Amino acid sequence: MTYRKSWAEPWKIKMVEHLTMTSREDRIKAIEEAGYNTFLLRSEDVYIDLLTDSGTNAMSDRQWSGMMMGDEAYAGSRNFYNLEKAIQDFYSYKYIIPTHQGRAAEHMMSQILIKDGDYVPGNMYFTTTRLHQELAGGKFVDVIIDEAHDTESLHPFKGDVDLNKLQKLIDEVGADKIPYICIATAVNMAGGQPISLKNIKELREFTTKHGIEIVHDMTRVAENAWLIKEREPGYADKSVAEIVFEICSLTDHATMSAKKDPIVNIGGFMATNDEDVYRKAQNMVVVYEGLHTYGGMAGRDMEALAVGIEESVQDDHMRARVGQTKYLGEKLLGYGIPIVNPIGSHGVFLDAKKFLPHLSQDVFPAQTLAAEIYIESGVRAMERGMVSAGRNKETGDHNRPKLELVRLTIPRRVYTQAHMDVVAESIADVYERRNEIKGLEFSYEPEYLRFFQARFKPLAD
Ligand SMILES: *Cc1c(COP(=O)(O)O)cnc(C)c1O
Repeated sequence: MTYRKSWAEPWKIKMVEHLTMTSREDRIKAIEEAGYNTFLLRSEDVYIDLLTDSGTNAMSDRQWSGMMMGDEAYAGSRNFYNLEKAIQDFYSYKYIIPTHQGRAAEHMMSQILIKDGDYVPGNMYFTTTRLHQELAGGKFVDVIIDEAHDTESLHPFKGDVDLNKLQKLIDEVGADKIPYICIATAVNMAGGQPISLKNIKELREFTTKHGIEIVHDMTRVAENAWLIKEREPGYADKSVAEIVFEICSLTDHATMSAKKDPIVNIGGFMATNDEDVYRKAQNMVVVYEGLHTYGGMAGRDMEALAVGIEESVQDDHMRARVGQTKYLGEKLLGYGIPIVNPIGSHGVFLDAKKFLPHLSQDVFPAQTLAAEIYIESGVRAMERGMVSAGRNKETGDHNRPKLELVRLTIPRRVYTQAHMDVVAESIADVYERRNEIKGLEFSYEPEYLRFFQARFKPLAD
């Protein structure tokens, strides 16, 4: 790699997809029809889509040519072996089971490792991860450091685990009630904040001593690795690929949503170093997904994923990926807009409590703000606050997360710097008129993962 100052992308554009431009009236009508939930908008009504970085990636010409090399055999597809080798070579794990996406891997992992009444600590919850832990009879316990819940803290590794919190849980319930700790890399719900290698090494030592395993939610491990390279002493000269390998080597099992880091549109896998867990997962996957050499994936999709894994751990790719996120974040800071600091890897998170301080959490400030941003400019963002947090299983009350955020998530290799300028300008316009903005109330609330399908209506004056 040759030196350059800018994060400019290490690729050029070969094909384009046209976007629809809408009027303000169009957008007001569309968001009403969508029940003020950006998940329920039609994509064709969206100009710049920052709903999620999940499956929205642009594949490379090498990945597309891999699609033509699909071996769609029911059993033993060549592409499975290519994928298995990529996972072993780049992520270190021995055994792999492909799945249709990350939550299917979480389902199997939870059912295999968790017993009724167990506790599952983690560095902040993730929606599908926690739900599968609960459905398996476990109780999630947040053991992330306090700084992760403080949007102003400039701690460089807000994804770190607080070992004192973990010790306290062991003292309370006993290590035999804790099958594993789940660590996410580039913690999504904390704003794409990394966990440090120092912390993972300490955690490895601590958990080994107590007979607790580590499950790695590795959805954004390469992004985490880039932030370690930038921020952690001793890692500046290591490559992203080396850091990724080291992180994975310190854990026992992994679940992956391939729709994120590895730059494909669908797919995932479960990986483990434990033969017994592998056998159990092989048995489960045929019930829920498909034969163990394809899980829920087509051969061609496994091939694109194998290529994507290699592309995702290149330093040049990651510099541009995280660079673009930082560019948007700094632009917003320039307008004085409250965001989560430091800027994370895959998106910029607006602090809705500070953006709309006149709204109480009960009227869903983050949900409201995401709807207003769409009305302003056709930019689609996502709520990550009380709606996403769901209800407490025992009390039935809302879970009230400290963080009430709107996530602007950046798809990989899809939008340009000029798109980021439009996003920042339109949010600045919403910020100008923030005092006029009122909240929302539920008109329909689904039972599971309510944020996906919930509907709202504006509060009466
Ligand atoms: C997306 C995601 C998942 C779930 O993966 P899906 O592919 O959407 O099923 C799990 N954990 C994290 C951190 C994620 O971002």
